Amino acid sequence: MALTALPGSFRGGLIQPGDPAYDEHRKVWNGSIDRSPALIARCAGPADVIDAVALARETGLPAAVRGGGHSFPGQSTCDDGIVIDLRAMKGIEVDPDARTARVEAGVLLGELDGATQEHGLAVPAGIVTHTGVAGLTLGGGIGWLQRKYGLTIDQLLSATMVTAGGELVRASETENPDLFWGLRGGGGNFGIVTEFEFRLNALGPTVLAGPIFWLMEESPGVLRFYRDWIAEAPNELMTIVIHRKAPPVDFVPHELHGRLVVAVVCCWAGDLDEGKKVIRPLREFGSPVLDLCAPKPFVEHQSMFDPSFPHGRWYYMRSCDVAELTDEVIDITVEHSMRIQSPLTSFPIWQLGGAIRQMGEDDTAFNGRAVGHTFNITCSTQSEEGFEQERTWARGFWSALEPFHTSVYVNFLMEEGQDRVREAYGPEKYERLRALKRQYDPENLFRLNQNIPPG
Ligand SMILES: Cc1cc2nc3c(=O)[nH]c(=O)nc-3n(C[C@H](O)[C@H](O)[C@H](O)COP(=O)(O)OP(=O)(O)OC[C@H]3O[C@@H](n4cnc5c(N)ncnc54)[C@H](O)[C@@H]3O)c2cc1C
Repeated sequence: MALTALPGSFRGGLIQPGDPAYDEHRKVWNGSIDRSPALIARCAGPADVIDAVALARETGLPAAVRGGGHSFPGQSTCDDGIVIDLRAMKGIEVDPDARTARVEAGVLLGELDGATQEHGLAVPAGIVTHTGVAGLTLGGGIGWLQRKYGLTIDQLLSATMVTAGGELVRASETENPDLFWGLRGGGGNFGIVTEFEFRLNALGPTVLAGPIFWLMEESPGVLRFYRDWIAEAPNELMTIVIHRKAPPVDFVPHELHGRLVVAVVCCWAGDLDEGKKVIRPLREFGSPVLDLCAPKPFVEHQSMFDPSFPHGRWYYMRSCDVAELTDEVIDITVEHSMRIQSPLTSFPIWQLGGAIRQMGEDDTAFNGRAVGHTFNITCSTQSEEGFEQERTWARGFWSALEPFHTSVYVNFLMEEGQDRVREAYGPEKYERLRALKRQYDPENLFRLNQNIPPG
């Protein structure tokens, strides 16, 4: 079957090598990924997705599925295959009375926040606005509101999906409940989700949020204080620790530019006066060199990390979960952070807990609700220059933490092999996911992902 053999009813655009738009459309977020698909099928709706899936099935070509394009290892593109590109599917319907939102698969987090915050509502999702709702949700979804409201999947009411056989199915607690269980953490293994329906939660629109910085020499003390301080913190508070070189931007004093710093970034989603009381001990600890934690619109806070993770830079990442920030974990963290070379490297340590633990460990396919912290050892350079050195640093740091690893979040895996995917789910969930895979995608058509093979 020819690649151009999509039926006349296909409403979206088809882009092939030689098309003037090809190079722009084949790019993904991670600049170190450079792949050349044979066809980019820009779907306009579920019917187009069904046609594109049929083309992939009939040609036997590899098929990559693209939501926001943020896959760290570049799994939403491929060489010589078909990219089923959902980016043009941008529908968002908010029902403020029912507190629900229907969201198409090409929507980005910032677009969703913009639409829901108009009504003082939100879906808890990630921390960078240009991440795709689709890939993030299918892996679980961690972010600023997780300790108050839970993971993104904990808000999911239903999903509409195109199966490998080209059928449109719906999954919810009452329709195909097994599939619904698997879609909440199992990634893109079972089919292509065209629409998500989320529960909305009240939020802000003002939150008390932003980073407080210390010089990195203070990090051993700051992290020990931080560990004890968050142990009692209410669920309205979510924090992320960042180690990096201070960026040369206007809001950072000139004398700090390029200096190694540690920051605790807070997001308090509750009564602002109470939040100020909770955060005060942190801002009074040691000698902070910059305090940008202040009341601001949630959507402003939500875009705070965007300039640190733009499209096109070269990125590499290793991730692990740990139960707690023990003295050893802190010492390893500081020792490696002191060796950051690239001015663009900036890595988050996430605080988990809170409402994430309100769902049972087996209620969804997501694994690791009891985790204490997630290390996201991300490194970055502008181009290939210096990348290998930074990548070696990330790998060494991750290996040094190995004795403390408990699990790993599937959305933070690189291409690390089958054992790591199995580890990410744990043996029981993995077997249950395999059984679902046999049911919905027995030929493993959808394999360019954190793959759960059917066999
Ligand atoms: C800068 C950055 C910030 C991030 N921040 C967070 C964060 O705060 N919280 C968090 O939880 N994660 C975060 N992540 C990880 C993110 O959740 C994953 O990279 C996720 O896969 C991105 O989804 P996407 O749609 O943008 O990616 P894509 O690259 O388009 O897709 C990623 C994977 O999902 C599959 N997929 C995408 N859409 C569909 C669909 N509609 N149906 C079926 N399968 C699909 C693809 O096949 C692919 O395997 C971040 C990643 C980056 C790069």
